[in-house]
Amino acid sequence: MNASFPPQHLAKKGYGKQMGTAPIRVGPSGVHGTGAFAARALPARTFLGFYEGRRYPAAQAAAMQWDGQLTYLAMLSSGEVIDGSDGGNATRFLNHSCDPNCEAFEDEDRAGRPVFRFQTLRAVAAGEELSVDYGLEADDGSTAADYPCRCGAANCRGTLLAPD
Ligand SMILES: [Zn+2]
Repeated sequence: MNASFPPQHLAKKGYGKQMGTAPIRVGPSGVHGTGAFAARALPARTFLGFYEGRRYPAAQAAAMQWDGQLTYLAMLSSGEVIDGSDGGNATRFLNHSCDPNCEAFEDEDRAGRPVFRFQTLRAVAAGEELSVDYGLEADDGSTAADYPCRCGAANCRGTLLAPD
């Protein structure tokens, strides 16, 4: 599988111009399914991209049936949902780790629109798998055991759910 990064429309706006070459390569993961890897050595706080995908307003998102798509959903604090399985970019392939080398946080793009911004937490070697702490919030009564983690980190907390 190949993925071009950054997406053309972001490149035209100048996002990532300072990066030189695309930071993310997509390939088979040692952790889970498909993963994202550093295409070159990345310094700490390297901008990796925004989480792209189809956007659903909060009210519509709350009424949707998301069976089978949960892997690629990201919810903004407004309740708006971004479905990375529809028009998403390489950032959707970052797997979870309890000891991540990247972070994703809510920010605004240049148009003032809320986005999830991905960046490295520390220097990452070329070829290293990129990961974030999903810190999932379950509001449906799910328990930690419903979202088991097998990231293999020494400090693995055993679940994808956020710590209490
Ligand atoms: Zn873990």
